[in-house]
Amino acid sequence: MLRAILLYLSSATWARNLVCNLPFVSRAASRFVAGETWEQALQVIRTLNDDGLLVTIDHLGENTSTIEEAQSSAETYRFLLHEIQRTGIKASISLKLTQLGLNLDQELCWNLLHNIILTGSELDIFVRIDMEDSGAVDSTLDLFERVNNENLTNTGLVIQSYLYRSIEDTEKLLRIPTPIRLVKGAYNEPHEIAYRRKSDTDKAFDQLTGMMIKAAVKDGARPAAEDGRYPPLTALGTHDENRINYGIRMAKEEGLPESALEIQMLHGIRTEYQRSLANDGYPVRVYVPYGTEWYPYFTRRLAERPANIWFILSNLFKR
Ligand SMILES: Cc1cc2nc3c(=O)[nH]c(=O)nc-3n(C[C@H](O)[C@H](O)[C@H](O)COP(=O)(O)OP(=O)(O)OC[C@H]3O[C@@H](n4cnc5c(N)ncnc54)[C@H](O)[C@@H]3O)c2cc1C
Repeated sequence: MLRAILLYLSSATWARNLVCNLPFVSRAASRFVAGETWEQALQVIRTLNDDGLLVTIDHLGENTSTIEEAQSSAETYRFLLHEIQRTGIKASISLKLTQLGLNLDQELCWNLLHNIILTGSELDIFVRIDMEDSGAVDSTLDLFERVNNENLTNTGLVIQSYLYRSIEDTEKLLRIPTPIRLVKGAYNEPHEIAYRRKSDTDKAFDQLTGMMIKAAVKDGARPAAEDGRYPPLTALGTHDENRINYGIRMAKEEGLPESALEIQMLHGIRTEYQRSLANDGYPVRVYVPYGTEWYPYFTRRLAERPANIWFILSNLFKR
């Protein structure tokens, strides 16, 4: 119930206007967001790299409402690709298609996405397309197919295990094969299309993990790139120890080496666990969001773990 309310609030403009200017809320958000500026984010990324962690950078923003905003987001992403090249940080990028105007004009979104992927291809940097709510899944898959038709191989998708359709989508994507980040799913979806029970979502997650690992072995078990710019085919985006342990067991059984099983986690969540997996030899990539548009991202983090609300309240009393 609380999860549904928080997910509703994540897209409510009135709620955003109400809380974004409250200093204790932005202080709490800073646990999950690496700063409002690129300079602040770069510092965080350098520290993560120094600790042996790879990064994927998210310039926060979604559901842009004007063409100019979409164009400006695309410019920022191209800037970030050049920054990865300039600074030598071990990173790739993650973006959302509604940030590039998917809901405004699909052709505009394609042009902006295509340009970003071309720049990534020139610089040899991977571009991950995040998966948003179920209304965006078909168009995301369509645009990804267009990328594939151009033989651009520096991109991949996200699959959400809570959606019933994901088994079929994954089967198709693995035929290519596509680099996939597997996640549970962060949006409020109706029971007609998505599991509502955590145990069902977890079971589907393990099933999809198995499919991805088998496909990666068949494809030659390419490792994550040492310079951090490319993930391997299989990336598990979760903080759930049971899901990760299942993936590790399955990889051992199927003969997938540690270097070809990437674990991805969000900035600020289970940081000790991130480091311990990296020490065990797994590529661990931290999703690092930054920017001023942190409200919907932050609210989804609260919805995943309503106990985080106490964490916000504890910031009320800090200076
Ligand atoms: C790298 C990455 C990229 C992602 N990209 C997408 C995407 O493109 N599309 C999409 O729909 N979703 C995405 N997600 C979010 C994902 O769908 C889940 O909502 C989120 O990861 C929480 O689920 P979990 O797998 O960690 O499992 P859970 O069972 O929810 O959590 C397992 C444990 O992790 C810890 N934990 C989890 N979430 C939090 C939190 N918010 N605060 C504090 N502790 C927490 C807790 O200890 C919890 O017990 C992404 C997640 C990651 C890690």
